[in-house]
Amino acid sequence: MTNNTNSNSFTPPAPKVADGEKTPAAIALGWLHTAKFLTTAPELHFLPPLDLPEIAFVGRSNAGKSTCINTLTQQKQLAYASKKPGRTQHINLFALGKQGVTDAILTDLPGYGYAAVPKQDKIRWQQVMANYLITRENLTGIVLMCDPRHGLTELDEILLDVIRPRVQEGLKFLIILTKSDKLTRSEATKILSITKLQAGGGDVMLFSATKRKGIDEVAQLLWKWAHPPAKKVKEPKADTPQAAAEEPEAE
Ligand code: GDP
Repeated sequence: MTNNTNSNSFTPPAPKVADGEKTPAAIALGWLHTAKFLTTAPELHFLPPLDLPEIAFVGRSNAGKSTCINTLTQQKQLAYASKKPGRTQHINLFALGKQGVTDAILTDLPGYGYAAVPKQDKIRWQQVMANYLITRENLTGIVLMCDPRHGLTELDEILLDVIRPRVQEGLKFLIILTKSDKLTRSEATKILSITKLQAGGGDVMLFSATKRKGIDEVAQLLWKWAHPPAKKVKEPKADTPQAAAEEPEAE
């Protein structure tokens, strides 16, 4: 467990009711609201190794990633920290956790594919990202932001190829179709089913920051990723000296 020590950081208000009385969506959003800037690094090997579930947000620049992170965490400026000079090609980590006890990490990997970036920088950033996505040990889930009017682009497909082996090994994966307010109902239905086919077993959700669509669903899914049900440990029978055996995870 890591304690949050950043004195400039946001302090969440004390909960007005016990968590037991809240809906799952309210619990998930309350948890996301605790997000605080933790650290930034230009490459994976500068990041502290952490023994906490880590969820990475990735996507083409302009896909709506910063808006989505700010909406989910209910903080106006949080993800825009990643757009500050000097951090535009950094891995930015945010700590999540109630009562000042960090129980998960949200990672913002700044957008790729921005036309104005020199080619060498683009290639370097793609390598940094791939290295992070392939080797970050505590990475629990990846959220890929996609503007549904453009669909998954070539760079998104490359990213899918990079993470596929880890997704097949159990890494959680969600594609968020952002700005869904810009789609008609039939366009939304169509792009949702197309993207589900491309997601290779991952989840796909429609999202709109402006119309506040999909916020509860995404929040609850991320909360579940970071708080998997505890594995039950079988009590050894009184008359057998067998060591406790693990039961399969309940979903
Ligand atoms: P990023 O580069 O991926 O971080 O993208 P931003 O979050 O900066 O958003 C890019 C543009 O899309 C901005 O002009 C946002 O205002 C706009 N945008 C983001 N989310 C939404 C949304 O849900 N609906 C609409 N209509 N526009 C959005």
